[in-house]
Amino acid sequence: AKEAGRDRFALFDSHMNDELQDRKRIETELRHAIHNNEFVLYYQPQIDFETKAVIGAEALLRWQHPERGIVAPDLFLPIAETNRLINPIGNWVIEEACAFTNRINGAKSENFKVSINLSAVQFRSEGLQSFIMETMTKSGVTADQIELEITESMVITNVEDAIKTLRRFQSLGISVAIDDFGTGYSSMAYLKDFSANVLKIDRSFVSEANKRDENRKIIAGIISLGHSLGMQIVAEGVEDADQESLLQSLKCDFAQGYYYGRPMPEADFLTYLEERSSQ
Ligand code: C2E
Ligand code: CA
Ligand code: CA
Ligand code: CA
Repeated sequence: AKEAGRDRFALFDSHMNDELQDRKRIETELRHAIHNNEFVLYYQPQIDFETKAVIGAEALLRWQHPERGIVAPDLFLPIAETNRLINPIGNWVIEEACAFTNRINGAKSENFKVSINLSAVQFRSEGLQSFIMETMTKSGVTADQIELEITESMVITNVEDAIKTLRRFQSLGISVAIDDFGTGYSSMAYLKDFSANVLKIDRSFVSEANKRDENRKIIAGIISLGHSLGMQIVAEGVEDADQESLLQSLKCDFAQGYYYGRPMPEADFLTYLEERSSQ
């Protein structure tokens, strides 16, 4: 893990070998980034397998670094997580994603939903629920237009509190998705207690689906388990027509992946929506 960490930071500065110094510098830069509005959200379409309609988008954070260009979230979110920086960044994501959703629903479609990734720190923070409610009111977005994505590892550390938090969101009408399903500690035992609305099958199963029979069986199992517990299923990382037809034959509900569209800035996403609706 240490080596992997070093690799990450090495990307930022290959000739500086001091991991701690790199980290400190990224922290300082992140503080500036918040002030200077260097963050941007990209949106990746989510497709209904049956109708092929775009039902929503996942908001994915990017850092538009003045010198390094677009920086992917895996390179800076883990650092933001270990200090308090994740809170202002996470709040900005919620505000921006809601504003985007309101723009889409006003102009392009109805019932368009945005999926927002939550970090572990955010999920545990006291003020999250009220912040989301305030933001919804300010931006004119309704609860049914928002989905919150959490991972298994976030709920496993304190299952009872996590369930309470999930229930509160759901009682407001906000839908909850379990992200990267199948990769974390197995929470099979808790799955029914979470009663999430959506399960997202991790890309690692989907990408190997047609190469390894075991993966196909795992996917089939996840879909039928999820359905039997009343959840809808999203397949992540769908990259080709073979994967699409397999998932469709297994009655998967929704798809997300490069085959349909990469994460893109809002302007490109609007063009994407227009092109698809005129097909
Ligand atoms: P994730 O939530 O699992 O997001 C899906 C990732 O898979 C995205 O990477 C997306 O670009 C990538 N992806 C989508 N379709 C395909 C495909 O067909 N093939 C391949 N190879 N990749 C695909 P991205 O945008 O780099 O985000 C990485 C992770 O960073 C996310 O994984 C999520 O855990 C985290 N993240 C992104 N935005 C936010 C955010 O606003 N808040 C928090 N807390 N985490 C975020
Ligand atoms: Ca996600
Ligand atoms: Ca995921
Ligand atoms: Ca992930």
